[in-house]
Amino acid sequence: MTFSLAIVGRPNVGKSTLFNRFVGKRLALVDNQPGVTRDLREGEGRLGDLRFTVIDTAGLEEATDASLEGRMRKLTERAVDMADVCLFLIDARTGVTPTDELFADILRKRCDHVILAANKAEGSAADAGVIEAYSLGLGEPVRLSAEHGEGMNDIYTHLMPLADEFAKRAEAEAPETDVTLDEAEAEEDGVRRPTQDRPLQVAVVGRPNAGKSTLINKILGEDRLLTGPEAGITRDAISLKLDWDGLPVRIFDTAGMRKKARVQDKVEKLSVADGLRAVKFAEVVVVLLDAAIPFEQQDLRIADLAEREGRAVVLAVNKWDVETEKQEKLRDLREAFERLLPQLRGAPLVTVSAKTGQGLDRLRAAVEKAHDVWNRRVSTARLNRWLTGMLEAHPPPAPGGRRIKLRYMTQAKTRPPGFVVMCSHPEKLPDSYSRYLINGLREDFDMPGTPIRLHMRSQA
Ligand code: GDP
Ligand code: GDP
Repeated sequence: MTFSLAIVGRPNVGKSTLFNRFVGKRLALVDNQPGVTRDLREGEGRLGDLRFTVIDTAGLEEATDASLEGRMRKLTERAVDMADVCLFLIDARTGVTPTDELFADILRKRCDHVILAANKAEGSAADAGVIEAYSLGLGEPVRLSAEHGEGMNDIYTHLMPLADEFAKRAEAEAPETDVTLDEAEAEEDGVRRPTQDRPLQVAVVGRPNAGKSTLINKILGEDRLLTGPEAGITRDAISLKLDWDGLPVRIFDTAGMRKKARVQDKVEKLSVADGLRAVKFAEVVVVLLDAAIPFEQQDLRIADLAEREGRAVVLAVNKWDVETEKQEKLRDLREAFERLLPQLRGAPLVTVSAKTGQGLDRLRAAVEKAHDVWNRRVSTARLNRWLTGMLEAHPPPAPGGRRIKLRYMTQAKTRPPGFVVMCSHPEKLPDSYSRYLINGLREDFDMPGTPIRLHMRSQA
């Protein structure tokens, strides 16, 4: 995904229609279930050879009073802030309205790349409206018919050079994930802790009502997301860039692993896909649990998924403000964690209250630490000294009288840490021995909680 495109405009101008044209059947959530598209939604868009994220403010109702207008404005601003490019639609059949002018204002102030399109422009009935669109001061409007697919070439022509620009920029900003061994070796204690200037990618996942929106709102420090007692009010995944007390992060918020609520199967499947997408996007996954009902099946599934995808995981137990027997509860939680998620041994477990803000500083620290561990690199020299000690303390087995030899070890990658060991008969080495090494790495190089990959490579 090279860049993100927000489709903005007042209700009924054809945003959903265009969104669907970009996204196709891959995110078929545009039926008329009331309340399904209440917030922003996001999909993977395609146009010719271009691939991008499309953000849509679908589901805005026509503003009939000041509060609705305020909400419409807020959502639009949020979409605009998230996007690299804004595609601003007006209805060519209606012509320019005061609301369009309001939107044009927002865009001029907040978006560097605006493409103006006059939609519903098939046929001559739209000519006057297309001309009027010039008055918005956003350049020449694209004559578009989202419904009939006309004008998509012109959109492509506008997007293509921008896509190139964003691709180049992304390349320049791409973090150095693998360093040369020489570089790693130069580190004094043999453990490299790279710094990064890109925002740390965080996903907040969890069951409906766990408090994800409340948590993100609290971190944002303003009421930007919709929250409510209703399960799953933020139906679709969105991401927000923010400064979390000095830590630049990009938070991916998702309605997540929604079980049933009152929604149909179709929506359910989409949400699971969203959760997965959030996990794939993230460097650190915050699994938010409800203290009243922690470690439910869905929680376990998403935590396991995050581990298998190789993400750093932080468990946050929310609604801690309502717990009375805190000591006892914490003991139970830790016990359940060890028993139910052994694959995440050592991952931080933090208690928080999204509502009061209690524990959020600890959550922030845990996220930062988890990310640091996930990025850690140990020098080859240090690893091999360590390996010698491990082999002496507990030699590998000798099937048929011939001892399996582990000769040499190196860290092949970070994010998460991955190691390669040259081994005389890898197929004969029992899993328990690999686990012994992995647990040792965790302990001795201070890498709690992060997934560690260990590969045995054959070498006679
Ligand atoms: P949104 O509220 O901005 O998301 O608008 P929708 O995508 O729901 O479209 C509003 C109405 O305009 C629907 O009835 C669409 O079928 C219609 N519409 C969308 N695009 C076009 C178009 O290019 N031409 C015409 N004639 N109608 C369109
Ligand atoms: P989401 O579905 O995971 O986004 O959950 P919401 O953020 O919408 O929260 C669901 C409900 O739990 C709302 O009624 C919130 O007010 C409530 N809630 C969220 N966090 C807390 C918390 O820390 N303490 C308490 N007591 N309630 C909370």
